[in-house]
Amino acid sequence: MLRLSVSVTPFGLQGLTVFCDIFKLALSVGFCMHEWALAEAVISAASEAAEKEGLREVREVRIRIGELQQIDQDVLMFALQQIKKTKIESAEFKIEEARARMRCRVCGRAWVFEKEKLGESVLEAIHFVPEVAHAYVKCPKCGSPDFEVVEGRGVWLLSVKGVK
Ligand code: ZN
Repeated sequence: MLRLSVSVTPFGLQGLTVFCDIFKLALSVGFCMHEWALAEAVISAASEAAEKEGLREVREVRIRIGELQQIDQDVLMFALQQIKKTKIESAEFKIEEARARMRCRVCGRAWVFEKEKLGESVLEAIHFVPEVAHAYVKCPKCGSPDFEVVEGRGVWLLSVKGVK
């Protein structure tokens, strides 16, 4: 068993830019396409990584998703199972969610976003327009809506494991 760390970089910042494009495209196409396009991107990146490392067979692919990304994990998992091909056929997919962390730009207070406190419609709005979060989320210390999202967006391909 070989463990290969592919990337811990959110799509779009560096590397894996193809993901970013597919992702943005998916976001504009609509909610349902979203998971399928992401699944395709994951499969192709994992296949590429396996190719590069000379893996004969991929056994496990780990993915991390920022909770603000609002991915339906069941749909994503289903999509992954449907489109995985040859080398990745027997791979198991593991998805984990990264909690969102915010930091206040005024007082510097950092906190963990509690999406359970927000309604579905608000979450949906945040999903499509992340800036909307500032209208609903305030710093728990000073009440300022001026915060940055430190973590909780993006999708990471954490690792691809397989046999050579
Ligand atoms: Zn504050």
